[in-house]
Amino acid sequence: MRICVLGGGVIGITTAYWLAREGHEVTVIEQHDEVGHGTSFANGGQLSYSYVAPLADPSVFGKLPHWLLSRTAPLRFTPSFSVDQWRWCIAFLRECTAACSRATTRELLALGFYSQAMLRELLDDEAIPFAHRESGKLVVYRDPAAFAAAERLMRYQAALGCEQQALNAHACVEREPALGALASQLAGGIYTRSEETGDCLGFTRGVARAATERYGARLMPGTRIDALDVAQGRVRAVRTSRGELEADHVVVALGNGTRALLKPLGLDVPLYPLTGYSLTLPIRGTDLAPSVSVTDAHHKIVYARLGDSLRIAGMVDVAGTRIEHTAHGNADRLALLARQARETFPHAGDYAAARGWSGARPATPSGKPILGATPLPNLWLNVGHGALGFTLACASARLVTDLVCGRTPALALDPFSWAYGALRGASRSASPVLHDDAARRTT
Ligand SMILES: Cc1cc2nc3c(=O)[nH]c(=O)nc-3n(C[C@H](O)[C@H](O)[C@H](O)COP(=O)(O)OP(=O)(O)OC[C@H]3O[C@@H](n4cnc5c(N)ncnc54)[C@H](O)[C@@H]3O)c2cc1C
Repeated sequence: MRICVLGGGVIGITTAYWLAREGHEVTVIEQHDEVGHGTSFANGGQLSYSYVAPLADPSVFGKLPHWLLSRTAPLRFTPSFSVDQWRWCIAFLRECTAACSRATTRELLALGFYSQAMLRELLDDEAIPFAHRESGKLVVYRDPAAFAAAERLMRYQAALGCEQQALNAHACVEREPALGALASQLAGGIYTRSEETGDCLGFTRGVARAATERYGARLMPGTRIDALDVAQGRVRAVRTSRGELEADHVVVALGNGTRALLKPLGLDVPLYPLTGYSLTLPIRGTDLAPSVSVTDAHHKIVYARLGDSLRIAGMVDVAGTRIEHTAHGNADRLALLARQARETFPHAGDYAAARGWSGARPATPSGKPILGATPLPNLWLNVGHGALGFTLACASARLVTDLVCGRTPALALDPFSWAYGALRGASRSASPVLHDDAARRTT
């Protein structure tokens, strides 16, 4: 089959890899000159299989005033006149019930575990240099109430197969000596041995190389996708800045570019970009950088050692739909990230030589990706991975490949289907209906 994969981020590339491995004629179309130059470029590096609890939970309501008023809060909401922003925020608030949050955690854990298994399978077959480490992860809490809530979540997740340990402050520093400067402020931490870290850009590049060199996938970088051409209820071709490509199947993995492409077809996907920031510092010989992957829950900042660099990432800005994946980002937010990181790990690396970056997580209100079918029988989605795209890439790619190939996926995909998962709390005006007039317009 001729299959077009739209988007050359970690999601599109892993999808192309599994499809090409099955012997299909796969073409990946990407607007940047290289793969992985969107949100997958300099993320937090966490393969965070057991830390999938969504942002949407009941504690959000108590934190809202702080998020709205403080300029230093880890989550910053800048209201705009955009209908899209309000619609997404209302759908997000509807997801903030204990029942929704628990169901989402359960569903994402299953996807996370499957992703870890699929990454293993991929790495058994391919040599991909991406600073991959089975680092374990320690999430530290400064506030005793927040630590107590984390222990409750740990007990819930234990029933779902997660092996985690609660540590007191002393044990946290024993596990990760670089936390020494913070010892007096720690309430405790949750340690998960099975968590991993790696460089998402290196992974994306390596998988792209395997897909093209071993399995014959074709990359079309530097190519903008303008529209989908629909005829007789199916996608006939993809219209690009370099001409038209006919395809038997099309998989959309455009991250934040998804809505603009699908809206003219009457398909309104509930995605909103949540901006975040990262810093990458060189680690010098005498530096005391953490070797366990650490999350500072108070500031919502993650730390991952990637080779001889330390990746520091965090913050969520709900600030509009203009996407900027830049090396400079927002100077104020990057300065705040650097200050908070330096307070936590004063000797972790060369802060003066830090490289800053900002990117936007393509997020659904629930925090779950949207995987699988659309009302058009040969159009498939693999989008909306929010803060977990690197973690969930291998599972999502493998499951969508199964669907495209007509097989029953190893994991039930109902919770991630467009009709159910992403829309549980979302406006029904975003129903998965392909309007006939929209289909005609693009024919
Ligand atoms: C600060 C930050 C930290 C993060 N930390 C982590 C982490 O630690 N662990 C984790 O699992 N996840 C993390 N994430 C989330 C993760 O990075 C994303 O979920 C993931 O990169 C999304 O991948 P994607 O392929 O869907 O999107 P992208 O990487 O953005 O890929 C989509 C591609 O589509 C292309 N495209 C879009 N529109 C068009 C068009 N019209 N024509 C042609 N090409 C187009 C884009 O150029 C882009 O390359 C983080 C995100 C941020 C911002």
